[in-house]
Amino acid sequence: IGMAYLFWYNAVNREREGIPFTAFLTQVDGDNVKAVAVADQLLQGELRRPIAVQRDGRIRHISYFETNIVSLEGIWPKLYEHNVTVEVYPQDRQNWGGYLLLLLSPLLLLGLFFMMRQGQGGGGGKIFNIGKSKAKFFSPNTIKIKFKDVAGVHEAKEDLRDIVEFLKSPEKFKRLGAKIPRGVLLTGQPGNGKTMLAKAVAGEASVPFFSVSGSDFVEVFVGVGASRVRDLFAQARRHTPCIIFIDEIDAVGRHRGAGVGGGNDEREQTLNQLLSEMDGFTTEAGEIIVLAATNRPDVLDTALLRPGRFDRKVEVPYPDMVSREQILKIHTAKVKLSKTVNINTVARGTARFSGADLANLVNEAALLASKNSKKSIEMDDFESARDKILVGAERKTLTRTQDEIRRTAYHEAGHTLVMALHDEAQPLHKVTILSRGGALGITWYLPEGDQVSKSEAEMLAEIQVCLGGRIAEEIIYGKEQRTTGAHSDFKGATKIARDMVMNYGMSELGAVIFEAPQGQKPDYSEATAQRIDEQISKIVHNCYTDAQKLLNENKDKLETLTVELLEKETLEAREVYTLLGLEPKASVSFVKQQKPKVEDDPSEDEPKVAPAGA
Ligand code: ADP
Ligand code: ZN
Repeated sequence: IGMAYLFWYNAVNREREGIPFTAFLTQVDGDNVKAVAVADQLLQGELRRPIAVQRDGRIRHISYFETNIVSLEGIWPKLYEHNVTVEVYPQDRQNWGGYLLLLLSPLLLLGLFFMMRQGQGGGGGKIFNIGKSKAKFFSPNTIKIKFKDVAGVHEAKEDLRDIVEFLKSPEKFKRLGAKIPRGVLLTGQPGNGKTMLAKAVAGEASVPFFSVSGSDFVEVFVGVGASRVRDLFAQARRHTPCIIFIDEIDAVGRHRGAGVGGGNDEREQTLNQLLSEMDGFTTEAGEIIVLAATNRPDVLDTALLRPGRFDRKVEVPYPDMVSREQILKIHTAKVKLSKTVNINTVARGTARFSGADLANLVNEAALLASKNSKKSIEMDDFESARDKILVGAERKTLTRTQDEIRRTAYHEAGHTLVMALHDEAQPLHKVTILSRGGALGITWYLPEGDQVSKSEAEMLAEIQVCLGGRIAEEIIYGKEQRTTGAHSDFKGATKIARDMVMNYGMSELGAVIFEAPQGQKPDYSEATAQRIDEQISKIVHNCYTDAQKLLNENKDKLETLTVELLEKETLEAREVYTLLGLEPKASVSFVKQQKPKVEDDPSEDEPKVAPAGA
């Protein structure tokens, strides 16, 4: 390829910025080049919309550019196709050669770097593909993976079955005017099977599968990412119905304005392109479904989550014990196991292992067994493999000791028990000690329909539920062993109490509203501020005492529930009520029968997030 692609920096005519040839092609592809003038191997041009280029780490917006070309012939069809006005000047070396200085500008290095990266994947033709998406394409008959190959994750599979149905027979849905899903967001920690699931959807529906990573769209040059997105969707449109899978969507989908550095402009354009492609599906061409994966749904731009875009969320959690057993069975099917190996025991001992960790465990065990020249893999190989992974893993979730897991179980049992026992508390949905996101355990409640107003008693109960986690820990471990883990619980409790005092007239200060707009002086005096604080602590304190009493009187239930949680890791409301011999709250069974969907999507339910342990 050589020198021809390097570009010249015109030191005299500064408003014309030199850009790499490849960047120029991208602009042509993006219909952004208005006119060019060509003299021999120099091409100067005007853009329709300014583009940003990076120089010395700073972004500059330019409308005029120049670049070097080998010959006009090669790019002529492209220019014609994209309606670029072309003027050609007869060769006149002396004229421009005189004032052009060849300078090695930083852009040159960028350009080189860029070309090298492009070149890595294959032949010389690659360089022309800068604006082309890097998606991997799988035709239906090459996708061997089905839902049955993905162990566990029942709720996720259930949610995705709709998508399969739709891809198989879109007419059926359209006939009734049903709104067709366009985007589904798969959330969960790495290695829990998001990619597998996405591919399995394609496998089940026998449709083509485009797989790409969000980071593939992120480039130095503004406009490249957007053009790759455009190209990806253009390809997909030729293969409908099909699935586009975007792994690590957060690489492009972070909320706008976040992060530092010059990459923002580029990422924003890429994100905007993605949004407009998704909005652009019409009902007829709508058989492209975009599945995107992330473990950071919290950083995503809300524009991505709006109706008609990624408006469905499917959670892909860490596998529970039963799922771990199934995953282990799948992966051990390919190796030689000794009869003495008890998969169930291995599953029990691998809490918080992801699916990928389990696959790795089996592989490590097999390696150890072969190293010791064994005929088959034995239980102690699994033991050693597990220890090796645990020691090697820096992840907190894996290295947590049994003690911490125990503590989390007591903590969550505390929340759950208050919720189950308190008459005014929200009905329980489910509880888990499995790590999810930043929290170590979670207790969910089910909101009773669209609650427009809450009673004082309900708010007090809510505070007690928040405090239940810490109280349970205190009952079992004593005051001296308090940890920082209940921070967000207390934050929640305090917020409710503050609302009661300041907004709802539910304190001794009476039916007065106290306003303290952010960054402004509050509309009440210092003295009142002090009284407000007193009222808030009084409410929280009283709730603490009440919840403490409740849990102390039901210590046996606390133990029972904790033991069960340690065993099963996740318990549905129904199981909790049965275990404790309690009458389920009426609304639970109602919601269960009438609206099973609510059960499947706890993410919307304002989970009582309850981090515990250190
Ligand atoms: P993610 O996309 O969530 O990071 P992957 O789908 O790439 O995870 O999974 C990585 C590997 O872990 C898979 O190739 C598979 O071997 C294993 N794995 C993960 N989850 C499961 C599961 N539920 N059943 C079987 N294997 C799994
Ligand atoms: Zn908690």
